[in-house]
Amino acid sequence: MTQLLNGNKLAIDIRKEISKEIEKNIRNKKKRLPHLGIILLGTNSSSLTYVNSKIQECKNIGIESSLIHLPNDSSERELLKEIQKMNNNPLIDGFIVQLPLQKHINSDKIIMSINPKKDVDGFHPENFGKMSLDMKAFVPATALGILTILDRYKIEISGKHTVVIGRSRIVGRPISILMSRKNYLGNSTVTLTHSHTPNIDYYTKQADIIITAVGCPGFLTGKMIKKGAIVIDVGITIVKDGKKSFLKGDVDFNSVYGKASYITPVPGGVGPMTRIMLIKNTLMAALNNENK
Ligand code: NAD
Repeated sequence: MTQLLNGNKLAIDIRKEISKEIEKNIRNKKKRLPHLGIILLGTNSSSLTYVNSKIQECKNIGIESSLIHLPNDSSERELLKEIQKMNNNPLIDGFIVQLPLQKHINSDKIIMSINPKKDVDGFHPENFGKMSLDMKAFVPATALGILTILDRYKIEISGKHTVVIGRSRIVGRPISILMSRKNYLGNSTVTLTHSHTPNIDYYTKQADIIITAVGCPGFLTGKMIKKGAIVIDVGITIVKDGKKSFLKGDVDFNSVYGKASYITPVPGGVGPMTRIMLIKNTLMAALNNENK
């Protein structure tokens, strides 16, 4: 039997825990509420949806958020100016620049310009490097969400073979590093596969844990996994069917359900965990902020 890994339910539990911590360490001590800044460039519909859901999550939990929404054709210089304002604003504990950015913007330059102490997405090389070296750092929210799902469902990672599909900086690469760290919630043997990996099923069939972050609906089928595998579906693609649209994961749910031991559904799996982990990182930034 396959058990669903319910990200919605876990996110509710974690929301309550964060609210309690805010009550204890911030409200009761008469400190300022944590404040998340978001910079969004343009009107890409997926980015707008993600940003709105992050703002909603701040409201749900009762922390502050500010959105700077710049027009699509804003220059790199204009974006850097807004980043400097956020870096220098003592009332902003942490902030993110919603990715992906337009082609005329150098994303590396943008990420490098964020103060690592406020980099709640964990994409700055200082945080990414520290994470890779088992040091305390902001960890990218999706990867942290996946680890938290595995932890809360008491799924053993140590000694297991994990196959990650996709090597993006925001999902595939950080989760492959985290799963292999010499750490609690690590010690897995990790194979990182990507678009240049021939015969991916050769690897997935050997995997105890599969984490797929490709963005291709139905990519991972039941034939590609061994019985009892744990399947984490990060993919989210909007698929249109007539006038209706649906969110689809990378996993061909019907053929994998029944063969896997655990699976994250889409929607309701990794997505809600990503949003709540961003809030967790913002709380961490606020508690570290010397200006409070
Ligand atoms: P990306 O486009 O940056 O990376 C996709 C990766 O897939 C690349 O590394 C590429 O090498 C790999 N890939 C492409 N085709 C492949 C193939 N045929 N075989 C093997 N690997 C292949 O995407 P991303 O930003 O990492 O996002 C991936 C998916 O995850 C998207 O659907 C995105 O919407 C979703 N996502 C979900 C969450 C969440 O919270 N659930 C968060 C971030 C991203």
